[in-house]
Amino acid sequence: MREIDYISAQSVSEAAALLNDHGDRARVIAGGTDVIVQVREGRREIDVLVDVKEIGELTAIEYSAGSGLRLGAAAPCYQIYGNAEVAEAYPGLIDAVRMIGSVQIQGRASVGGNLCNASPAADSICPLIVYSVTCNVQGPNGSRAIAAEDFCTAPGQTAMTQGELLVSLDFPAPKANTGAFYLRFIPRNEMDIAEVGAGAFVTLDASGATIESARVALAAVAPKPLYVPEVGDHLAGKTISDELIQEAAEIAQNAARPISDMRGTAEHRKHLVAVLTRRALNGAIARAREAN
Ligand SMILES: Cc1cc2nc3c(=O)[nH]c(=O)nc-3n(C[C@H](O)[C@H](O)[C@H](O)COP(=O)(O)OP(=O)(O)OC[C@H]3O[C@@H](n4cnc5c(N)ncnc54)[C@H](O)[C@@H]3O)c2cc1C
Repeated sequence: MREIDYISAQSVSEAAALLNDHGDRARVIAGGTDVIVQVREGRREIDVLVDVKEIGELTAIEYSAGSGLRLGAAAPCYQIYGNAEVAEAYPGLIDAVRMIGSVQIQGRASVGGNLCNASPAADSICPLIVYSVTCNVQGPNGSRAIAAEDFCTAPGQTAMTQGELLVSLDFPAPKANTGAFYLRFIPRNEMDIAEVGAGAFVTLDASGATIESARVALAAVAPKPLYVPEVGDHLAGKTISDELIQEAAEIAQNAARPISDMRGTAEHRKHLVAVLTRRALNGAIARAREAN
């Protein structure tokens, strides 16, 4: 058994300095539901775990109807869905945080950890993309913002560079006539990760009949969570109909580049993309009409 140093950082700058000093040999630990498993299984060789849960900015959940949500990267899922205002304002995020693992996992797991782990199948990343979330990162050279769709670059890889950590996630303020929805298909009924996931966000006109704009993102069908701007381009300005939603689903299907693995074949994943995109869009439209 190898010894690993555990350091509980008390500030963002202390955490960034530790990460910078140790390079690839250090990792942040938030909930630990990914990183502890990876270290124990020998999938990550590290010397230092930098705990960030004592840092106020990383665990804060700050919401106001006017300015939106600033979600601390290490805030656990249960505190997100347990916050009535956040749950009401961002139901598409709540869809995802309620399905990560189990109640026990949700007591530890964070959205920041889900994002930084950069699994193509991660459940919360599609909602981050469709909500147009900005990821606030800080490192030895200061802070910068990364759009959620640009954060993951490959399986397990992110746009963060040495010494950087994710501090918070900024969600735009909720607006009238908008709605978001996330769902996934898992091959078994018990705890599992997505064979395919789909998230959608729509802005409707005041009558609720026309889509002004839309965003769709897919999980587990590409090397990283996949933003599909072509769907939004096709839907913008069009009257909602079953045919239109079906066209959008087929555009998403064409954009998907799935592989076959233990959870499903590429062919089955392609089939699922159309089904789930249709349901995600219809779910988002229904919520936008309710939010009217
Ligand atoms: C039984 C089980 C079931 C699961 N089910 C699901 C599921 O249904 N859906 C799903 O998407 N995932 C699932 N997971 C995976 C995991 O729970 C999630 O990815 C979770 O959100 C990770 O959050 P965490 O806080 O535990 O991350 P950690 O394990 O603490 O960190 C994950 C990775 O991100 C890095 N990291 C964390 N925070 C930061 C930060 N602020 N800045 C820089 N790097 C950071 C860490 O160094 C590590 O590499 C499951 C895991 C288990 C063990």
